[in-house]
Amino acid sequence: MHIPSKLPDVGTTIFAVMSALANEHSAINLSQGFPDFSCPEELIESVHRFMREGYNQYPPMSGVPQLRQAIADKYASLYQTALDADTEVTVTSGATEALFCAITALVNPGDEVIIFDPAYDAYEPVIQLSGGITRRIKLSYPDYAIDWHQVKACINAKTRLIILNNPHNPTGSILTSHDIQNLQALVSNTPVFLLADEVYEHIVFDGSQHQSLLRFEDLRARSFVVSSFGKTYHMTGWKIGYCIAPPDMSAEFRKIHQFNTFTTCTPMQYALAEFLQYSGYYRSLGEFYQNKRNHFLARMKSSRFKALPCHGTYFQLMSYADITDQHDIEFARKLTTESGIASIPVSVFYGDGCDEKVLRFCFAKDTETLDKAAEILCKI
Ligand code: PMP
Ligand code: GLN
Repeated sequence: MHIPSKLPDVGTTIFAVMSALANEHSAINLSQGFPDFSCPEELIESVHRFMREGYNQYPPMSGVPQLRQAIADKYASLYQTALDADTEVTVTSGATEALFCAITALVNPGDEVIIFDPAYDAYEPVIQLSGGITRRIKLSYPDYAIDWHQVKACINAKTRLIILNNPHNPTGSILTSHDIQNLQALVSNTPVFLLADEVYEHIVFDGSQHQSLLRFEDLRARSFVVSSFGKTYHMTGWKIGYCIAPPDMSAEFRKIHQFNTFTTCTPMQYALAEFLQYSGYYRSLGEFYQNKRNHFLARMKSSRFKALPCHGTYFQLMSYADITDQHDIEFARKLTTESGIASIPVSVFYGDGCDEKVLRFCFAKDTETLDKAAEILCKI
């Protein structure tokens, strides 16, 4: 039987495609974003302990209270933001679920949603499923900054939501305080909501400060702020994230969440609650990944790839315009199958397929992996 597709233009996500190709050709996988090193041993021990102690049944729908409180405490200590763990924090099955619930809760047929290209690929399909209209605004090349004049020109009576991804995947750009001021000026006195995808919140480099929307009371009052433990604690496969929003917005969010996944894995939530209470692990994460970025860049110095600025995330963009004018999808495929290095072609994140001859390399890898990859890339 044929199903008329609700997402006729959507294929398999590039992350699944490139990781499969990397596996098929035994290539070094710098495509999909995940570390090739382990998460903290205490976390693994703690999950085992909670499992053995019998924490194996459904947790509360909005998340284990201890974890929600630990999340609220973290932001109180980081940004002096007072959050009510009961009404403003919801634990989800990865940030992906949180993005789905937030967009679905907000967007009605005909509503317009502004996203910035190159855009992470999990936003538009959900907008489309809700009957919304995606308005894409290009970030400027090569610094991938937001042109606020364009945003202003794009806002109209139908604008429901602006989705911000900060630090930005795939480009590694970050919002500055100047961006925040522009955003504040644009949305004040409008009914526009914000969705901030901040999964790389702790991976910011060179002394910059992460401009979380949680820092700004006026913005926080109209925002869903989404994050993920996967990026912070090196366990992307656990799929545990969360969403922070004011009580009324969280209530609508939870109406969707309860019939989507209802809740997420119990022993992992308890383990994370415990870990967050005593560990300031995330505070050194920026430095940890900055060292990896610097190491990778140093090894790539003699290559014909040109590094673009990277202020955050664990992704490094590289221009290959000096090597070939092949399309980036074709070149990424060739690099995987013939040279044994998998990366992500950036054109797939553009609504119009804009090909700037740029590939994304994930540097959340052991030094040995980065060295091997750079050695190959320097010969190309
Ligand atoms: N948003 C961005 C920008 C991401 O890069 C990712 C995953 N890498 C997600 C959301 C999804 O996070 P999760 O794996 O927790 O669902
Ligand atoms: N967010 C990850 C990346 O950018 C991939 C997540 C996924 O595979 N869905 O590589």
